[in-house]
Amino acid sequence: MQRNSEIQNLRKNTRSIANHDADAQKDLNISFEFFPPKNKSMNETLWNTITKLETLNPKFVSVTYGAGGSTRERTHKTVARIVNETKLRPAAHLTCVGSLKSEIDEIAKDYWDAGVRHIVALRGDPESGIGNAYKPIPGGYNYGSDLVAGLKNVAPFEVSVGAYPELHPESQNWDAELDNLKRKIDAGADRAITQFFFETDTFLRFQDRVLDAGIKIPIVPGLMLQPNFKGLKRMSEMCAIAVPNWLEALYADLEDDPQARLLVTATTVADLASNLRDQGIQDLHFYTLNKADLAFSVCKILGFQSQKKAVA
Ligand SMILES: Cc1cc2nc3c(=O)[nH]c(=O)nc-3n(C[C@H](O)[C@H](O)[C@H](O)COP(=O)(O)OP(=O)(O)OC[C@H]3O[C@@H](n4cnc5c(N)ncnc54)[C@H](O)[C@@H]3O)c2cc1C
Repeated sequence: MQRNSEIQNLRKNTRSIANHDADAQKDLNISFEFFPPKNKSMNETLWNTITKLETLNPKFVSVTYGAGGSTRERTHKTVARIVNETKLRPAAHLTCVGSLKSEIDEIAKDYWDAGVRHIVALRGDPESGIGNAYKPIPGGYNYGSDLVAGLKNVAPFEVSVGAYPELHPESQNWDAELDNLKRKIDAGADRAITQFFFETDTFLRFQDRVLDAGIKIPIVPGLMLQPNFKGLKRMSEMCAIAVPNWLEALYADLEDDPQARLLVTATTVADLASNLRDQGIQDLHFYTLNKADLAFSVCKILGFQSQKKAVA
């Protein structure tokens, strides 16, 4: 019964999405996150994804950096190819974990020289995995705020940082969380992109806290496009992100039905995005997991149109 009423609500909301002005992209900026491919076939998937999403004219696209620099070469190669072969504005993720300041500075300088002007600066998770104790290394950047300051010394990068609508798992309380975000802004951060979350209110409550703390940089909601619900739940638990019962109910019994899971994911994320836009949010960042069709469908539901000619 509960599941039926959730689906009724979803249907109602989806109709309201469909009523949006088809020219809606004027009010909304989108950005996409990709991860660097591990092999030839993943490389092909990524480039099909990038080519498809480029037609939606995103504000920027970003490429993740594996724990402890494990994707250093692949991230650089992917970002450099985006610079050279597309009209997209790429941002390279960079983390502090396990590297000396001099190594990070060198990577940043290489990015600047390659024409990359935007870095997503993060502390990173412990190499032993999320949830294990983090220990800065001697001679390294300790936290996100230190990395932001270091990057600004290398070159006048645009810098985005992470923010956590449900608290970073290691933050003791909201004062510590917001003080940390302020430190990153004082060091030069231009925007914060949030960890993923599932409810509009979660973001709005966070936005209130941020505004009350006098923080003025844009806080961009991060929306996760993960149709593998088991994986999504595991990730959420590791990151202390609440998974609502209604979401769990929507994916129940769909373990062997990947097609239905894709549709549920597209609908629920489009619904969240649409509600955020209705609340006046003007920027959305999608964790695409390199899945072109999913990200593309969500943006189409939001009223985005492909601009093949403009890009060609
Ligand atoms: C948008 C986004 C993109 C991401 N991309 C990647 C990626 O590409 N690669 C990757 O490995 N990870 C990535 N992550 C995950 C990220 O690395 C982890 O969430 C990490 O645990 C925190 O990074 P941060 O920069 O936000 O941390 P920080 O801002 O450094 O904060 C981490 C914790 O340390 C505390 N803290 C900060 N400063 C101090 C201090 N001086 N003393 C004591 N405690 C302090 C904070 O309160 C917080 O609890 C991403 C996260 C987000 C939100």
